[in-house]
Amino acid sequence: MPGVLDARERDEAIRKLAAGPLDVLIIGGGITGAGAALDAASRGLRVGLVESRDLASGTSSRSSKLIHGGLRYLEQGDFKLVKEALRERDLLVSRLAPHLVRPVPFLYPLYRKVVERPYVGAGLVIYDAMEGIKRPVPHHRHLTIRGALRRAPALRPDRLAGAMLYYDAQVDDARYTVTVARTAVRHGATVLTQASAVSLLFSSGGTTPRTPRGMSDGNARVSDMRDGDRVTGARVRDEESGRTFDVTATSTVVCAGVWSDPVFAASGVRAGYQVRMSKGVHLVMPRSAIDSETGMIIRTSKSVLFFIPTGDRWIVGTTDTEWTGDRAEPGATAEDVDYILGEANRVLARPLSRADVLAVYAGLRPLVAEPAPVKHADGKHADGKGGADGGGSEKPTTKLSREHVVDAPLPGLVSIAGGKFTTYRLMAKDVVDAAVENFPRPVPPSVTGELPLLGADGLPAVRASAQRLADDYGVPVASVEHLVARYGSTAVEVLELIRADKPLGQPLAGGAPYLRAEVAYAVTHEGALHVTDVLARRVRLLIESADSGASVAPEVAAIMAPLLGWNRRRRAAEVREYQAFAATNAAALRAPAAVGDASDKELVPA
Ligand SMILES: Cc1cc2nc3c(=O)[nH]c(=O)nc-3n(C[C@H](O)[C@H](O)[C@H](O)COP(=O)(O)OP(=O)(O)OC[C@H]3O[C@@H](n4cnc5c(N)ncnc54)[C@H](O)[C@@H]3O)c2cc1C
Repeated sequence: MPGVLDARERDEAIRKLAAGPLDVLIIGGGITGAGAALDAASRGLRVGLVESRDLASGTSSRSSKLIHGGLRYLEQGDFKLVKEALRERDLLVSRLAPHLVRPVPFLYPLYRKVVERPYVGAGLVIYDAMEGIKRPVPHHRHLTIRGALRRAPALRPDRLAGAMLYYDAQVDDARYTVTVARTAVRHGATVLTQASAVSLLFSSGGTTPRTPRGMSDGNARVSDMRDGDRVTGARVRDEESGRTFDVTATSTVVCAGVWSDPVFAASGVRAGYQVRMSKGVHLVMPRSAIDSETGMIIRTSKSVLFFIPTGDRWIVGTTDTEWTGDRAEPGATAEDVDYILGEANRVLARPLSRADVLAVYAGLRPLVAEPAPVKHADGKHADGKGGADGGGSEKPTTKLSREHVVDAPLPGLVSIAGGKFTTYRLMAKDVVDAAVENFPRPVPPSVTGELPLLGADGLPAVRASAQRLADDYGVPVASVEHLVARYGSTAVEVLELIRADKPLGQPLAGGAPYLRAEVAYAVTHEGALHVTDVLARRVRLLIESADSGASVAPEVAAIMAPLLGWNRRRRAAEVREYQAFAATNAAALRAPAAVGDASDKELVPA
């Protein structure tokens, strides 16, 4: 199976899902759901995944885009999490996704002469040691003041006492999620976007007919649950047509991130944990705004701030504040922007201002806070895997665990929340293990640790062949290199589109370095149904261009229109919708700045 998510084949995907029964139905197409789909499909199970909007449209396109152990969690004593995450980082960099996950150096500036170096140095020794013997990224190093300033001239030299240099890795989170979903499709999964699970289906002791419970009947309560209630799938609404259909499955797996509570509430299910939402904001700036050849991490009064180099941009963030508003589009505020600029300016020689900022984006961490112990209908408690904080509903979100929790609230239903992008593969394995625990037939163990993602196989050969490919397909070698860096060995599929239609080899006007072919490929191979899917997640012009990709939207719509059968009116509506979305995204930058210059603050970070 080629691993193609063709947006033109939705009807076939709906037919397959409705025909059922599946072994596993997954609700949610972020990295956790995509990972679970791949884990289950590669164990030979019949798998379906439904996603309300687009793949990675929730938290999984709005992270810091780091694949990391997390120095901060080491300081919090979360050794298990750090060790697991470092092992995963190395597996992804070296074997499973070397085309998508790349090592990146970080400089940790030191400001307290005697005490700080041994403290941070000891932490980095542990960080390096936890990784194991075979390491695809270099060891940490000590730097003098001169060494630090040579690598990062942007740092204020006064009171700088030196620095440490260590390595982590980075990823395009949305692209990675789509690639995991496509790899699941390659192994037989059916993935449908713009499809919401509106209610769960139940059967009682296997005798009563299946009944949906939830939004459709409106008033189900936990007290309606009887022993023996079993979840048998979900009623799904196709958001494109408004039609609903039932998908039956032996096991239903909820991977809905910050939507977990509403998914359960809609069907009167009480889960063993609640998800608390913590908002994190990032600013995107041109590389010229900060003179440094490495990434940087600095301590702030509340947490840490990353300066992450990505292509010809910097991503600077993040914040960590409790959120109770709209889950779909958690807006950044003027205060968020000022906080990040203020913290950054404590260490930078040339202070940053709003004029330096190209874009701002916000995401919600799905953190797990366990409520009072819950006894489920089947007598089980939340298994607490990974250890959610008991009584976590009172803690500030910065102190909540980043580990994950798997829960089995009813027979036939499991769910997972919490965790990190970095550890998605382990999360997927844990939740699928729970989903198949009582299956009528034996299910093989997870094999994803040995399963490179789509685009990883043959990578060295494709990299080495850039010039020949450029000659064969009649495009500049820089375009081939750009494609290989984004698609690995599947870059050849994009080049095939260019062979069939030469103008697709041109860059998007105002959207370089992306090629027009990447828009077509997003539809024919990556499941993009709307202009927003392309500009926000397949190419990242929403956060990479000064106008959030607004000016390139008509060209993108023109490429998508013949592929998806859009008429003129539909095309115009798509452009309008995207441009309105891009404008709200930039709102925090237009809001008046807070009074006072944050760069005046105390230099030594807390
Ligand atoms: C600011 C920030 C920075 C971060 N940085 C990092 C980092 O650098 N490294 C790292 O490892 N981790 C990081 N994380 C954490 C990481 O991004 C998340 O843990 C991860 O993306 C969560 O993925 P998910 O699939 O669980 O949730 P999501 O990506 O939110 O996916 C849930 C999906 O479920 C869908 N859905 C909801 N309801 C339904 C329904 N009824 N039917 C169908 N679909 C439904 C939603 O549309 C959504 O797409 C960061 C998080 C934030 C917020």
